[in-house]
Amino acid sequence: MPKIAVCAGSFDPPTEGHLNIIRRALKLFDKVIVAVAVNSQKKSAFSTEERLALLKELFQGDKGVEVDSFEKKLLVEYARSKKAQVLLRGLRTIQDYEYEFQMALANKQIAPEIETVFMMTESPYSHISSSLTKEIVSLGGSGAGMLPPLVEKKLKEKFKKM
Ligand code: ADP
Repeated sequence: MPKIAVCAGSFDPPTEGHLNIIRRALKLFDKVIVAVAVNSQKKSAFSTEERLALLKELFQGDKGVEVDSFEKKLLVEYARSKKAQVLLRGLRTIQDYEYEFQMALANKQIAPEIETVFMMTESPYSHISSSLTKEIVSLGGSGAGMLPPLVEKKLKEKFKKM
């Protein structure tokens, strides 16, 4: 059976931190499904379609990555529907840990057959979050090293229009 991991998130926008954990996970799993979790209550800079298009372009050269989205569904239910055995999460700070620990236990209770696997961020990416990069770029700063160049370009265009 192929080993399949789901890496779910907002990806608003995708950062170098996301790319790093997903590419490292490709060495451990046959397939990594990058799934945009659609939350209509949450204000986002990029629409779901825009995020999907960005992710598809970023991972076009990475065999084993599938880009998808899901909505109004538990993550474990989505994972089951994709025959995934693993929920992949990235860990940066101790604050991440507390939230992730609770989510992992809740998911385990709902779907005991699915494992949450954590990957520690690598040091160049430990401070990077989508919200931080949005703030920097919105104030005219550079996202170099934090955002893939394509994403930084689109984000700048977005803020210009606002
Ligand atoms: P969410 O809204 O669920 O936190 P994100 O888009 O922020 O979604 O993140 C998706 C996944 O990528 C999460 O598991 C998160 O921990 C991980 N991640 C985000 N940024 C980094 C980073 N800089 N290093 C490692 N993992 C990261």
